[in-house]
Amino acid sequence: MDTKKILIIEDESSIADIIKFNLEKEGFETDSAANGQLGLDKALSSNPDLILLDVMLPELDGFQVCKKIRESSSVPIIMLTAKEEEVDKVLGLELGADDYITKPFSIRELVARIRANIRRTDSNDRNSELSANSRRFGNLSIDMNRYEVSKNGQALDLTLREFELLKYLAERENRVFTREQLLEEVWGYEYYGDIRTVDVTVRRLREKLEDDSSDPQYILTKRGIGYYFRRP
Ligand code: CA
Repeated sequence: MDTKKILIIEDESSIADIIKFNLEKEGFETDSAANGQLGLDKALSSNPDLILLDVMLPELDGFQVCKKIRESSSVPIIMLTAKEEEVDKVLGLELGADDYITKPFSIRELVARIRANIRRTDSNDRNSELSANSRRFGNLSIDMNRYEVSKNGQALDLTLREFELLKYLAERENRVFTREQLLEEVWGYEYYGDIRTVDVTVRRLREKLEDDSSDPQYILTKRGIGYYFRRP
């Protein structure tokens, strides 16, 4: 595998240095920026494979930087959060961040997240070269290779994560999965991650897929257990 470049946007130099040291030890190339504006400039000019983005930053904060990067790039972004309120904001806003990790985190956990997010982009690139492989579920058509979903012929604009969750469930119709299973299988974490991420992604998917997201027909909740896909 070729060397992956990680851009670290973090104003606390002690944290940035520890991350940089450990990622380089793991074989990554790194670049860093100590404020939001510089981070944004580097994100857009230096073509990193993944960005670690602190929330509390001088000049532009992490939320603003994330939004601006997303206007022109789909590079994986992991937000570094310090407080529970920030986690809620990352989950609740349509920022386009791929993942988040709460400080203090272990380097082992950080590296696992980075690898999982980079693997996902790589397999998505490979998939885009494949031919169409469309399957129908009622009014819904899912192209498993091309990452395209349409309902009644209208293309739906899903994020990569929303698509992967839908694909995973739809390929295993009627089977119920716990949030922990989905986190492991779809997000690719071994032991880490927050199961609320699954709930938030299901909620967004329903808003896009369902006629009435409070009365879902495709992605159903099995009370006390988890979620499953059903052909309406
Ligand atoms: Ca900070």
